[in-house]
Amino acid sequence: MNRSYRPRYGVPARSPRQKEKQFEKLRATELYCPKCGRATPVRERLLLVLPEGDKYEYLCVYCGTSLGDKIERGEPKQLVVL
Ligand SMILES: [Zn+2]
Repeated sequence: MNRSYRPRYGVPARSPRQKEKQFEKLRATELYCPKCGRATPVRERLLLVLPEGDKYEYLCVYCGTSLGDKIERGEPKQLVVL
């Protein structure tokens, strides 16, 4: 008896708190960049998905230096400015 319809991936590890906002957000945030020597616009990049929230990193749009990060839990209401 050959069962070829066995699922290969076990239980789908889906968190009940799964978010559907994977799109990149545009923000008018500016942070001070030590390399550029002034406040620059930043790019927000999703770095990690943690149990307590999504961790984002802020990168200078000009030189790519990491200027900070934040953890976004649920609603996008908290913003860490260094
Ligand atoms: Zn910079």
